[in-house]
Amino acid sequence: MKIGIIELLAGGSSPTWKQTVEDFLTTKQYASIMPQAVTVWARQLGHQVHYATFYGQGDPKRKLPADLDMVFMSVYTKDCALSYALAKLYQREGTVTVIGGPHAKSFPQDCLRFFDLVVTQCDQQLMADILGGHYEPNTIMASGRSLTTLPSVEERMPEVRSASFFQGTKPYFASMVPLLASLGCPYSCNFCTDWNNPYSVLSPDQLEADLKYLSANYPGVKIAFQDPNFAVQFDKTLDVLERIPQGQRNPYVMESSLSVLKGSRMERLRDTNCFFVAPGVESWTNYSNKAGVGTTTGVAKVHAVAEHLELLQSYVPALQVNLMFGLDTDIGNEPIELSKEFMSLTPFAWPVLNIPVPFGGTPLHDQYLEENRVLEAMPFSFYYFPYLVTTLKNYDPVSYYQGMLDMLLHYSNRRFLWQRLGTTSSQSLRLLHIVRTLRAKEGIGQFRRILNMLTTDKQFREFHEGGSTELPEFYHHEFERLLGRYATLISREERVPSLRAAVLA
Ligand code: SF4
Repeated sequence: MKIGIIELLAGGSSPTWKQTVEDFLTTKQYASIMPQAVTVWARQLGHQVHYATFYGQGDPKRKLPADLDMVFMSVYTKDCALSYALAKLYQREGTVTVIGGPHAKSFPQDCLRFFDLVVTQCDQQLMADILGGHYEPNTIMASGRSLTTLPSVEERMPEVRSASFFQGTKPYFASMVPLLASLGCPYSCNFCTDWNNPYSVLSPDQLEADLKYLSANYPGVKIAFQDPNFAVQFDKTLDVLERIPQGQRNPYVMESSLSVLKGSRMERLRDTNCFFVAPGVESWTNYSNKAGVGTTTGVAKVHAVAEHLELLQSYVPALQVNLMFGLDTDIGNEPIELSKEFMSLTPFAWPVLNIPVPFGGTPLHDQYLEENRVLEAMPFSFYYFPYLVTTLKNYDPVSYYQGMLDMLLHYSNRRFLWQRLGTTSSQSLRLLHIVRTLRAKEGIGQFRRILNMLTTDKQFREFHEGGSTELPEFYHHEFERLLGRYATLISREERVPSLRAAVLA
């Protein structure tokens, strides 16, 4: 069969040159392992396979050849509208459409409105079943087995080159090769889609072989570990990384809990060439165990985490900290002031502010739905920063956006940018800081726009307060702008998500 596999990393074409630059530096590098693994499995089963990623450049429909027998799409929730539009086009051509990835896992019933098959958990055997025609149309499929093996990086190299290299041939300074050392996570953060995925380590021998291959063939190219929580079994994982001789180790980036990254372990991070860490701190009132501060909260947690990061920064060149604002435990000005104080104490760490998003399959989703706090008319295209898709327990929408704006203005000021530039000699990191600061300034513009509508447009405010269920025209226009010529394929009725079916079993 002629098979197409595409990962959508953007929901439409990049609207500005700044976005285009950021997409080239970052979005392009978010290509996931599973679509690449699926490609390898289909190739090994003897099919003619075409793989592509779409990160906001060109026409997504032209990324794959015509006349496909079957197309697989891997999609994040914010980009699903584009996948739905593409699925309609493929179905018109007689192509069987299959969706997988994070959105399929979170909202499978919604996907079933547009795709022939929805895969929520995949492995090699399930791929063989699908490609062998052993499936019922219009169904949701899951392997029901834990994933234990993945194709080697050498087997995935054609896909890695296509996704992450310049013009599909040569690595450039931003290139990253995705790897996995483990699956799942021992923590159970209520907003996270990995909250109930048990932690398991993948084959250390396979990891060693992958690291050796990259060291020999692509020296210096960064590795992106896509583990939900890297090196929870720290010694076991680092032992494998240390089997590569010093001086030949590729730099790597990863997300990990601060609780894991302490003491002499930081030296091992430096010695194994760890380049970038993104710990999730989330909140000053909650999730303290994974930040490694026990039950400490408030200003004491701010100082404890800042001191930890200060130390970590002397071993790892680049840090990013994920923070969330608007959780039920956030009340009043205190979380805003604490976050600003934290940002002032750690100008070297890039803060990523997140808005709570109720992804299907999480306790947060079920709680918000139960409490009628999800804005049910809001299309999935707005399930990301800077949009608010729920009502909040302790903030009205105006004071919430004012608080967010206050934090954004604080961390994107020029003084911090100069300090960040002074902490690194890496050209790619400096460029990233500049582009991110410019993008943060764009984000400030978007926040001001939404804040202005909240204060001047009664219907818009009522919608965000949960009083009106009619989607404001602003969001229809944004939806249409994002999808461009594909927008007409999704009617206004079809933009309303199917949420109730996503409740936990
Ligand atoms: S620690 Fe990270 S990966 Fe684990 S459940 Fe929490 S947010 Fe998810």
